[in-house]
Amino acid sequence: MTDGTIQGHELSGIVEAIGEAVSDLRIGDRVVIDPEIVCGKCKNRQYGKTSICLDTQKIGKDTHGGLAEYVIVPGENCLVLPESSAIIAGTLAFPALMILESVNRAFFKKNGKIVILGSDWLSLLVYYLLDHLHEGKIQLAVDLKNSAKLPSFVEDATKLDKLTT
Ligand SMILES: [Zn+2]
Repeated sequence: MTDGTIQGHELSGIVEAIGEAVSDLRIGDRVVIDPEIVCGKCKNRQYGKTSICLDTQKIGKDTHGGLAEYVIVPGENCLVLPESSAIIAGTLAFPALMILESVNRAFFKKNGKIVILGSDWLSLLVYYLLDHLHEGKIQLAVDLKNSAKLPSFVEDATKLDKLTT
C-alpha cells in the first residue's frame, strides 16, 4: 500500500459521475464494486480467468478505497444493486461470493475435517457458513496460540494431508 492510500477493499456506492466509455450505468445507480481491477492483457484474461489476473490492482490497497469520499473505478467493476437490496449489503457481496466459492471448492465432506487459518471476519464467515451447512457440528478452535485448546485434528497443522483424508 502506498502512503496516503485510503483503505476500503469491500465497497458499494452511488454513481456520481460517468466516463464517456461507460454506457450501462446511470448517475444515481446504487452499485456494488468488484474490488479487483484486472489488467485486461495477461494470459488469464484470454482464458476467462480474470479472478487470477497477473497484474491486478486492488481497490483500497493500490488505489483509494471505500473509506474515501469518492472512488474512481472502471465501469465494468460496477454491478447495479436491485432496488430491494440495502446498499450495505452490496459491500458484503464480493466477500460473500468469495467465501461461497472457497467453500464450494473445498469439497468439504459431511463429518469431514477442515482447518480455517486466520481469525478475521472472512474466516469467521467461512466458519458460520460451514457450521450452517453441517448442522452446527463444526468445531471451532478459539485460541491458536494455545495448542492445548485446539481440537486434536489440528494439533499438527504441518501435516495438512492428514486433515483432508
Ligand atoms: Zn491480467
